[in-house]
Amino acid sequence: MRSPIRDYLDAVIRDTSDITSGKVSDDIPELARVDPDLVAVSLSTVTGTVYSSGDHEHQFSIQSMSKPFAYAMAIEDHGLDEVLNHVGVEPSGDPFNEFSLDERTAKPRNPMINAGAIATHGLIKSDHAPASDRLMDLYSQLTQRNVEIDESVVASEMAAGDRNLGLAYLLSAAGALHLNPPAAVAGYVRQCAAMMTVDDLALMAATLANGGVQPNTGNRIFSRATTKQVLSVMASCGMYDAAGDWMTSVGIPAKSGVAGGIIGVLPGQIGVAVFSPRLDHHGNSERGSEMMRLLSENLGLHLMTAG
Ligand code: GLN
Repeated sequence: MRSPIRDYLDAVIRDTSDITSGKVSDDIPELARVDPDLVAVSLSTVTGTVYSSGDHEHQFSIQSMSKPFAYAMAIEDHGLDEVLNHVGVEPSGDPFNEFSLDERTAKPRNPMINAGAIATHGLIKSDHAPASDRLMDLYSQLTQRNVEIDESVVASEMAAGDRNLGLAYLLSAAGALHLNPPAAVAGYVRQCAAMMTVDDLALMAATLANGGVQPNTGNRIFSRATTKQVLSVMASCGMYDAAGDWMTSVGIPAKSGVAGGIIGVLPGQIGVAVFSPRLDHHGNSERGSEMMRLLSENLGLHLMTAG
């Protein structure tokens, strides 16, 4: 059935069709095989109604959009104070894969860049199951379906993974990693290789918008306090060294992934997800960013706008 919202999302796709700039990621060779013209947008209300347009059934790896959820799990496992002892919350102003540690504290600056995300992965409790298995369970609760890992993406990233391995050794040398470096990277890469559609991601984002309660099942997945922490860090650090530009132009907490997805959250209202594989030099989707900017402008999402 047609709906005005669906028609509007069709228009967002149409109105951004001239954006073909940017480059598909080649950091992970498997990601370079994607059709660069795939495009999708999805929006979920905090009551769990999902509207989407474009290639919304196409699955792609969530990559760094996993980071807010892994951070949430680490906080739920240990409490915020303990996690803050290991990973900071300051924007680094650096690219996502920078060899970045706060020199004064010897901690990664935030959990959204790779250094902080690998340390965060190492914090997740794994006495009963590997952290990446626990994360797949979490994603499945959030999306209400069985989320799986793309093993070809895992293999491809591991084969080209010297930089993340280097980061893990740097963390380990600084006493900031709670797993051995190869195990931390192997787990982190699995966390990133979960396959989802924009509809799945919009529901994940809507759970954050809904204060940590999955809209359809009514299950509380994260506490309100954890959700607030995650959204705050997404707002300040989620778009890496483009976070300031993002906050002024789009104005909602967001997180991008190097496969071309971006999630955004308007607390109390909606979760949105977009997908388009060509990336800007920060590693954020070019067309996806413009789709988000349009959504923000047309739907009045910017958090700093009164009324
Ligand atoms: N798995 C990717 C990496 O570690 C995630 C990066 C990203 O999505 N920005 O390089």
